[in-house]
Amino acid sequence: MEPGLRRLVVVSNRLPAALKKEGDCWKVKAGAGGLVTALAPVLKNRGGVWIGWSGASDPTLDVDGLLSNFSSEAGYDLFTVPLTREEVDGYYFGFSNEIIWPLFHDLQTRCRFAPEYWRMYLEVNFKFAEVVARKTSPDDYVWIHDYHLMHQAFFLKSMGVKRSTGFFLHIPFPPPDIFMKLPWRWKLIQALTEFDLVGFQTLQDRKNFAECLRRLVPEVRFEGRGAVISVKIGSRKFRLGAFPISIDFNQFNSMAENPEVAQKAFRIREALRHRKIILGVDRLDYTKGIPERIRSFHTLLSRYPELAGRVNFVQIAVPSREEVDEYKELRTEIEQLVGRVNGEFSFPGWVPVHYHYKSFPHDELVAYYAAADIGLVTPLRDGMNLVAKEYCASNTSEDGVLILSEFAGAAAQLQKDAYLVNPYDMEGIAKAMNRALHWDKAERREHMVGLRDQVRKNNIYWWVDSFLQAGIAKSLDDFPEVESLEYEPG
Ligand code: UDP
Repeated sequence: MEPGLRRLVVVSNRLPAALKKEGDCWKVKAGAGGLVTALAPVLKNRGGVWIGWSGASDPTLDVDGLLSNFSSEAGYDLFTVPLTREEVDGYYFGFSNEIIWPLFHDLQTRCRFAPEYWRMYLEVNFKFAEVVARKTSPDDYVWIHDYHLMHQAFFLKSMGVKRSTGFFLHIPFPPPDIFMKLPWRWKLIQALTEFDLVGFQTLQDRKNFAECLRRLVPEVRFEGRGAVISVKIGSRKFRLGAFPISIDFNQFNSMAENPEVAQKAFRIREALRHRKIILGVDRLDYTKGIPERIRSFHTLLSRYPELAGRVNFVQIAVPSREEVDEYKELRTEIEQLVGRVNGEFSFPGWVPVHYHYKSFPHDELVAYYAAADIGLVTPLRDGMNLVAKEYCASNTSEDGVLILSEFAGAAAQLQKDAYLVNPYDMEGIAKAMNRALHWDKAERREHMVGLRDQVRKNNIYWWVDSFLQAGIAKSLDDFPEVESLEYEPG
């Protein structure tokens, strides 16, 4: 560990390595997401720790033993919070994914406000906090991630454990009209005020949080401007910030430039007979607007019949939460819609929609990004949406067009050069696709260069630095005012 640096402790629902059963054996699989890539070097330098659930609920398993090899290779420690099947059901599938996930994505009709979920969420948060208390010291900086663990600071304090804590919410924070529907709204918002820093993806999310706080705690006062502001409730003081998460630009850019990946991209174009390619890539989730997107493509083909045989829509849907009924139903709906478009418009030699229900290896995904003329990213609501940024970073030909939902967090940063659409407006999306297909090369290049510059500059390393600076730095004056990160639909 470098001298003078505080040790960093990351706490998230899942560890950066997951235990998976293959036949009779348990294997450790390293996570490959942007968060792990960005935090790994920081954790290594500071002699860090990552605390989370391993993904296994078998009480007889020697999880720490299995993870120790991974730990010594990675250069930081991993500590697991053991969870039973019942705990995972109540806290993860229940409270996190049937209450907070839909509510915070403005889809309150999908919420199941079951009191037993809330109780299990608290129990599991307490369990996490006990591990955090045991494995950390007062000099550490504890960075907690996401909506599964909003009660960490609250429980640490209630145990009398003093720690510097930062929390980052990866999903949106809803406006008061929606948040106030939560039966445990007061307890939840109060728990969030126990962190020393609460980070959001966008200024809009932070503003929503501040408005909810004002409604529930009228004596609250805010101070400062810019990316980080100060909050006072009586003698209690903490900070709120906006830190849009990002990707490792260079990793995507250089992978797209790799000759083998470029060759793969060429083969994809060739297989689709060099027709224009419109690409959607998402986890199969109801927040992503996949049915609306397929309907928009249907509208495109109906309104502009001259496009028949000249364009393909490729949708990659990564399986997610497959055991949940709602996700099963969504999958069926998508498959029926794909069948409907293809049934109506195909002719010999042309099938308009290519649908893949699977996860692709990284290099193939980048090849798809590089091959696509249009990246069609239309979530109904999204904290950030990394696919939008990955598409731009992989578009080394600099002639693609990003069509982006105005309700994705990414719209705040990319609004200048993305083609913004309302994901519910199927005619609007069809019109946007048609226009984008007719943009000339110079226009496409101008916007894509702008998008790539933005993602290159505000990459994942910049995100980690800005959060940690805000968490560990002493004075609010250390933070310059930021350029606008806000997008107001309208
Ligand atoms: N992704 C993947 N395999 C695939 C397709 C996508 O690992 O076959 C990744 C993609 O690279 C991106 C992530 O899934 O990093 C999706 O992140 P995003 O922020 O867009 O949405 P989330 O799934 O976190 O809601």
